[in-house]
Amino acid sequence: MPRPTDASAALFERARAVTPGGVNSPVRAFNAVGGTPRFIRSAAGAWLTDADGNEYVDLICSWGPMLLGHAHPEVQARVAEAVARGTSYGTPTEPEVELAEEIVARTPVERVRFVSSGTEATMSAIRLARGFTGRDIVVKFAGCYHGHVDSLLASAGSGLATFAVPGTPGVPVSSTELTLVLPYNDRAAVDKVFAEYPDRIACLITEAAPGNMGVVPPEPGFNAFLSETCTRHGALFVSDEVMTGFRASKLGQWGLDGAVEGWRPDLMTFGKVMGGGFPAAAFGGRADVMSRLVPEGPVYQAGTLSGNPIATTAGLATLRLATDEVYDHIGVAADTIKTAVSDALSEAGVAHVVQATGTMFSVFFAEGQVRDFESASRTDASAYAAFFHAMLDAGVYLPPSAYEAWFLSAAHDDRAVQTVLDALPDAARAAAAA
Ligand code: PMP
Repeated sequence: MPRPTDASAALFERARAVTPGGVNSPVRAFNAVGGTPRFIRSAAGAWLTDADGNEYVDLICSWGPMLLGHAHPEVQARVAEAVARGTSYGTPTEPEVELAEEIVARTPVERVRFVSSGTEATMSAIRLARGFTGRDIVVKFAGCYHGHVDSLLASAGSGLATFAVPGTPGVPVSSTELTLVLPYNDRAAVDKVFAEYPDRIACLITEAAPGNMGVVPPEPGFNAFLSETCTRHGALFVSDEVMTGFRASKLGQWGLDGAVEGWRPDLMTFGKVMGGGFPAAAFGGRADVMSRLVPEGPVYQAGTLSGNPIATTAGLATLRLATDEVYDHIGVAADTIKTAVSDALSEAGVAHVVQATGTMFSVFFAEGQVRDFESASRTDASAYAAFFHAMLDAGVYLPPSAYEAWFLSAAHDDRAVQTVLDALPDAARAAAAA
């Protein structure tokens, strides 16, 4: 049953008058699925409440950060105490040190610097890689998103090993002409560009496990191969764990491959979970590389709100509460939902494939395994739109795009999971009819 949306629709109209598309990040506008974007008024645990009073089980979790669920009482308490002490000083503070220590203890990075968004983290990591190596070329993969950094908003050029073209108006050719875009999971393409530019590649940046074209896990050994190839050619391996960090597993995607196989990235980027729902992100890595940053070294980087005491307090509280039990719980809930989605879609005769890395997963409305951007693009977006709206009408808030990961939290209890399961058969039939 469609739910009332008058209040959201009225807010959307006001928003569109003063903000492009009515939103501050494009996917929120429901442009990929149509309909009225829901303006959320409050959230608690696994549930969102919109401006019309509708409740939804949240399978976005703020696009990843809310690992513990919304309004976790202990995180809220720490944040309230921190707010009472003032909100920003522009000086070093203890929470920054504590959060940095926690990240250094939990990941292979030796030093870390805080910024305010994942975009800043990858932008800064690339600048540092260029500054450290004295080289200029950056290699990335099609379908990997690293934020709206000019040089990374690039599409593949006309052939392998040709420089990229801007992926959006507003990015000059000069910003992407040092970026090479390769197909994901393609070792031969990687070998080829390193053979072609043996002394010019500053870094290769990849999502540790892509989640921004839907979840496309690295094939076994792929990240190890990237790490080894970069090392052999004197380039830095930059692993972007903004989405997977403290999410795919307690140690992120690296916990699923590097920690087991015995390699570590030169630089890593983090965001989302480590900010506990506040604007905080980070880049970090080898001490000798990080020491090239100002004020220790010459590579410039700075931020008025970087390491903000409220954001770092929320992130620290979140990471300290993110125990093995949290990941076990999310893993079990994810398995239940993955199986049920697949069963419902099969029953309705909808082509699909569920892909996962650790506790992170997504559902492609497409035939066969998805291993790169080209195969991800075969997703049937209109079937997904029908599925999305049927789920929304039944009280389940999925990502409003067919190419996104679904996120769960420690607060997704039996009632929340059951709400999802109950909604699936009708939604699968809606997808079949689309
Ligand atoms: N890297 C990855 C892997 C991401 O998923 C994102 C955001 N979805 C970013 C970078 C950019 O982060 P932000 O939106 O905080 O700028």
